[in-house]
Amino acid sequence: MMLPKIKLLIIACLVLLPGAVCVASDEVITQVSTIDALMAGIYDGVSTLAELRKNGDFGLGTLQALDGELILLDGVFYQVTADGVAVKPDPSVKTPFAAVTFFTADRNLRLKEGSNFQEFTESTEKWFPSRNIFYAVKLKGSFKSVKTRSVPSQKKPYRPLAEIVKTQPVFEFKNIAGTVVGLWCPPFVKGINVPGYHLHFITSDGKAGGHVLDFVAADATAEFDDTRELFLVLPDDNDFNNVDLKRDRSSEVKAVEK
Ligand code: ZN
Repeated sequence: MMLPKIKLLIIACLVLLPGAVCVASDEVITQVSTIDALMAGIYDGVSTLAELRKNGDFGLGTLQALDGELILLDGVFYQVTADGVAVKPDPSVKTPFAAVTFFTADRNLRLKEGSNFQEFTESTEKWFPSRNIFYAVKLKGSFKSVKTRSVPSQKKPYRPLAEIVKTQPVFEFKNIAGTVVGLWCPPFVKGINVPGYHLHFITSDGKAGGHVLDFVAADATAEFDDTRELFLVLPDDNDFNNVDLKRDRSSEVKAVEK
């Protein structure tokens, strides 16, 4: 009987924490806004990083006005700005799109040395117990290479994301140690989040990273946190209220992610 539980949760949230983000358990992904809203240029922040942190110690997203790639690892936020450099953002900064959870590994595997993003995707998708649930994924170790990108901060009127990434700065790390932080989402999530893998990278010294375009593993392991709950928080502003989200933006999302 899931429905009464969800109803109760929503009521508890409204009564106890009006306007705040709240969750059912540690085994839930809390997400701010939707991928299609981000694609459409809804870049004004919804929740502060401090609020988001209450809902997870692990995750990814972007920051107010699309100011770089966001990584949450072991409870610490990193912001990879348009120059590829990672800084620790102020907890009062807001995020227009993010997904976080409390990470506890349910399964793990060793990456084949020399395997790239595509091979990792194909082998893990075959190995998952189900392709109809969510996985938080953590790849830790050394990589022969990691190719990332970031995005520059935007000014209003905001342009769609597909336009901005045409001139995205790209970075290549060689023989680098670090952690890939991300999510694998099932195909039916399209419009809400990115189907398949969405990965961000932070170097082991916490000084650089970005949105992962490709990687080649050296000595790395992957951990997966099976997740069957999604808690969605939608923006409360006119831009979101009035944006047209009827259109299928799947091909744009694919172009932006790769
Ligand atoms: Zn990303």
